[in-house]
Amino acid sequence: MSKVIAIDGPSGAGKSSVSRIVGERLGFLHVDSGALYRIMTWQCLENGVDTSDPSAVAAFAPKVEIECRPECGRIEYYVGGERPGNRIRTPEINAHASHVASVKEVRDIITATLRGMTRHGDLVVEGRDITTAVFPDSPARFYLTASAEARAARRQKEEVEKGIANQGAEAVKASLLARDRIDSSRRYAPLRKADGAVEIDSSDLTLEQVVDAVVKSLPEGW
Ligand code: C5P
Repeated sequence: MSKVIAIDGPSGAGKSSVSRIVGERLGFLHVDSGALYRIMTWQCLENGVDTSDPSAVAAFAPKVEIECRPECGRIEYYVGGERPGNRIRTPEINAHASHVASVKEVRDIITATLRGMTRHGDLVVEGRDITTAVFPDSPARFYLTASAEARAARRQKEEVEKGIANQGAEAVKASLLARDRIDSSRRYAPLRKADGAVEIDSSDLTLEQVVDAVVKSLPEGW
């Protein structure tokens, strides 16, 4: 049976970088579950689906075909044979993603997709409900957090470096906090720290220190 390291936390807590490096160190495939919610959101917007209408989103979600391929240490996603790239990282997608992710039918589809990935091998999966709903029985569950300021600063730097947007720190912080609020208060699989998950506050830690803290807390033999 595959091993699954599950990492949850709010936006900008460092989950992606930590998961990628932990995956590289251990030879586990990195799975970015947020990208699946972003792809659903992108497809809704491309097809004129009103993201504030849960029944419209629920009816559209099963039509979205996302191909998941293990490549270079991670699961890559393809839609219509193409990788979505930065098209799913824009401020517009940020503003709509939490609404789409609140829809139960969307969550059910993505949860099933994520569980099916264990056929590709051992995984490190990051998101908002991985420790609580997708892989709640994993013996390696983490809740990664950081102050709102640290999270906003990281996201802003990333947006500028990748040429995605050039928003001020306050705008990035407001968008991130708005998303966290919706993610934590939604009815289905809200973001919360799972009982028994190891909590790591990364505000004053380097990436390497967080990675070490995760690796040190893994079960014997992983
Ligand atoms: O992780 P990322 O910021 O890319 O996720 C985008 C959005 O997808 C989140 O704000 C959240 O609404 C949703 N999400 C989720 N459950 C996950 C991963 C992401 O609801 N496991």
